[in-house]
Amino acid sequence: MRILVLGAGFGGLELTTRLSDELGDAVDIVLIDKADGFVFGFSKLDVMFGRTTPEAVRHPYRDLVKPGVRFVQTTIRSIGPERRRVQTDAGEFEADVMVVALGADLDPAATPGLVEAGREFYTVDGAFAGRDVLDSFGGGRVIVGVTSTPFKCPPAPSETALMLHDYLLERGLRDSSQISLVMPLGVPIPPSPAASQALLAAFAERGIDWYPERLVRSLDPQRRVAVLADGEEMPFDLFLGVPVHRVPAVVAESGMCVDGWIPVNPLTLETAYPGVYAVGDVTSVGTPKAGVFSERQASVVADQLIARHGQAGAAPTYDGKGICYIEFGHDRVARVEVTFLTGQRPNGQFDEPSDLLLADKANFGTSRIRRWFGRDWTSYLRPARRRTRPAALRCAGSRPG
Ligand SMILES: Cc1cc2nc3c(=O)[nH]c(=O)nc-3n(C[C@H](O)[C@H](O)[C@H](O)COP(=O)(O)OP(=O)(O)OC[C@H]3O[C@@H](n4cnc5c(N)ncnc54)[C@H](O)[C@@H]3O)c2cc1C
Repeated sequence: MRILVLGAGFGGLELTTRLSDELGDAVDIVLIDKADGFVFGFSKLDVMFGRTTPEAVRHPYRDLVKPGVRFVQTTIRSIGPERRRVQTDAGEFEADVMVVALGADLDPAATPGLVEAGREFYTVDGAFAGRDVLDSFGGGRVIVGVTSTPFKCPPAPSETALMLHDYLLERGLRDSSQISLVMPLGVPIPPSPAASQALLAAFAERGIDWYPERLVRSLDPQRRVAVLADGEEMPFDLFLGVPVHRVPAVVAESGMCVDGWIPVNPLTLETAYPGVYAVGDVTSVGTPKAGVFSERQASVVADQLIARHGQAGAAPTYDGKGICYIEFGHDRVARVEVTFLTGQRPNGQFDEPSDLLLADKANFGTSRIRRWFGRDWTSYLRPARRRTRPAALRCAGSRPG
């Protein structure tokens, strides 16, 4: 079986790892990505807030050596789902099975004024550059604002606000700063009332202003105000934005999308095209756009391909489960386990923020790097710089929960 995996993010890495571990050289897998390495979404925030360095969080694909897998670093220019064929800068590839795991692209230019007057922190480059922006920030009004739905990792803007609070406190700038969080959701984590309550309490304790059910439509670079969808204006000195999300252009042009995303069978992740699957952020499967969901969907596709290779019966189907870790600041992490099943109200089990869960989250990252890249991620949180916290500030801010 020739398998073409488009995209080496959460979904593509999990899929190729599972297939290689279980089928080895018996299948011929080509994994394509335009990037030279993988970066976890949460590592973007770690770099932005100076908790680690860009080098420590980039996992080069050259380390990816797996039986049956050939990694090709190139840009995909067109996708032909009928023939399971792609055109790339490195030539044409065709296969018996194709899996689209190309994620969601970010389009900061779609929000007027964001590029000129704000800072997006969702791309790797944007988040890494955010480190210098924050370093040179002298205090003032900061808005963490979402510009459209859907957006990746719904807890990330809340985490950003909480981590920003710690960061400004450490730098002695919290008293002269105001943090506002503008989100389209009514509560921070809708499937988990307990998680939402804990986050709202943490915002209140830290004096973070919460603006629910709002979207930022544009920024006025001259007046330095954010204009919300309802017309309200909010002045800012620093705007940290979550940009508009859309499928990569090559996916939009492939004819596979309906209403902007690739529809799939929610149990098998098959698309409307025979032998073509899609997993993760590029789909409209109904789970949030987060790596844990991409990974589990990829694993279901792997189960089906393994069953097909062995001519076995039915493989397990997708259950919509995922575990999200939430940074609460003060070096504490909470965990939400959520299940999204078609036709059912999603429900989430919440574990309060703790030091233990900080270790759990680290293990989540390091175990994936071990499985996907076959090496230890020893520099998981290598301090980027040493900051001495003034003694008076060390006890400021109380711990949640
Ligand atoms: C700040 C932040 C924090 C986050 N925190 C978390 C978290 O704690 N937990 C969590 O589960 N998720 C988190 N996420 C979300 C997570 O990063 C994504 O949801 C996840 O990476 C999606 O996986 P995917 O496999 O669908 O796509 P991706 O991981 O985005 O992979 C898609 C790949 O396709 C490649 N690609 C795209 N177009 C082309 C092309 N034309 N040619 C070749 N290659 C191409 C890209 O280079 C990319 O490597 C966070 C995201 C952000 C921004």
